[in-house]
Amino acid sequence: DVQLSDRVNRIKPSPTLAVTNRAAELRAAGNDIIGLGAGEPDFDTPEHIKDAAVNAIDNGMTKYTAVDGTPGLKKAIINKFQTENNLSYEANQILVSSGGKQSFFNLALALLNEGDEVIIPAPFWVSYPDMVLVADGKPVIITTTQASRFKITPEQLEEAITHRTRLVVLNSPSNPTGVAYTHEELAALGEVLQRFPNVLVASDDMYEHIRFTDQPFCNILNACPELYDRTIVLNGVSKAYSMTGWRIGYAAGPAKLIGAMKKVQSQSTSNPSSISQAAAQAALEGGLECVEKMVVSFKERHEFVVNALNDIEGVECIPADGTFYAFPSFAAVIENDSRFNDDIELAEFLLNEAGVALVPGSAFGAPGNMRLSFATGLSTLEDAISRIKSALA
Ligand code: PLP
Repeated sequence: DVQLSDRVNRIKPSPTLAVTNRAAELRAAGNDIIGLGAGEPDFDTPEHIKDAAVNAIDNGMTKYTAVDGTPGLKKAIINKFQTENNLSYEANQILVSSGGKQSFFNLALALLNEGDEVIIPAPFWVSYPDMVLVADGKPVIITTTQASRFKITPEQLEEAITHRTRLVVLNSPSNPTGVAYTHEELAALGEVLQRFPNVLVASDDMYEHIRFTDQPFCNILNACPELYDRTIVLNGVSKAYSMTGWRIGYAAGPAKLIGAMKKVQSQSTSNPSSISQAAAQAALEGGLECVEKMVVSFKERHEFVVNALNDIEGVECIPADGTFYAFPSFAAVIENDSRFNDDIELAEFLLNEAGVALVPGSAFGAPGNMRLSFATGLSTLEDAISRIKSALA
């Protein structure tokens, strides 16, 4: 029997990928399954982006690139930060990686020593705690409620900080809740962070462009520029440009930290795919029109889904500010129905009885809720929610 490392024994496979796989298995076995578990847009990658990749192949851009990204893509990223976010970075402050996931992984490995604490507000993206654990760090979870729109308060943040705290993770708009912090809320969190100069901040802006409100996008650095020297901004093309399979994410922050993350990457994967980098550059240089078209659909689906979910007895769903997720509470349903005892059993029940795959809230640190991805057409969503309604009736 092979003895595995403590490191790998402390983590679990991604639960969202597990739900997607289970739905695919059932479908392959001939079942009629609607998968609302996946965290990826259903749209094809826009044509001009695909063309750039084809050109890259035809023009021999098929070799290693610089570990931290091609000069062209890094320039496009610097320009993106300046024009879209009013943030200034030099080339040595940017690292391009194989997806936003690798950006955070590099950060955890470059920053954390054994026992270092990372504050993660729940509900959280499933991978943060496990990536912290791989890096020998200790996730410190701040729980929130639906009543506070799943947002942490400055008091909660201050209470969670100890002398071991190295990093606070902010993800707004959030996967899985879709909720975004306002400028004022971020400024208030920033005020607390200013009093703890040893604490760094990771701002995961992956869903920056998928927003439904008229509020302009704002991250912690926009609200609190004083944190510039200890904030790392994470972003990527996966969600905005429907490029999940291309695997390009990027990080921007203090040169020393970015350099350390680059060193980690140089000894693991080296550069991200040269072809994908050409495509990502075309995405960032090609304007936001293609993104806005997708957002129109997400917004329309969001309205339908929130209303339809709230029509199911016992289900409560707050409207989101962005992303393509709804995160309704099924707490009353679970309490009143003896066919399942918790959200994990409810997910199993809905998969078997309704043929609908949702991710249980426990995976995101929020038992009693369920994540529904509306990155699929309206008619499919109608079908899915009416199936859920009948199965629960
Ligand atoms: N950050 C958040 C909040 C996400 O939801 C995801 C994807 O699910 C990522 C980062 C990573 O994206 P990728 O590695 O696909 O670029």
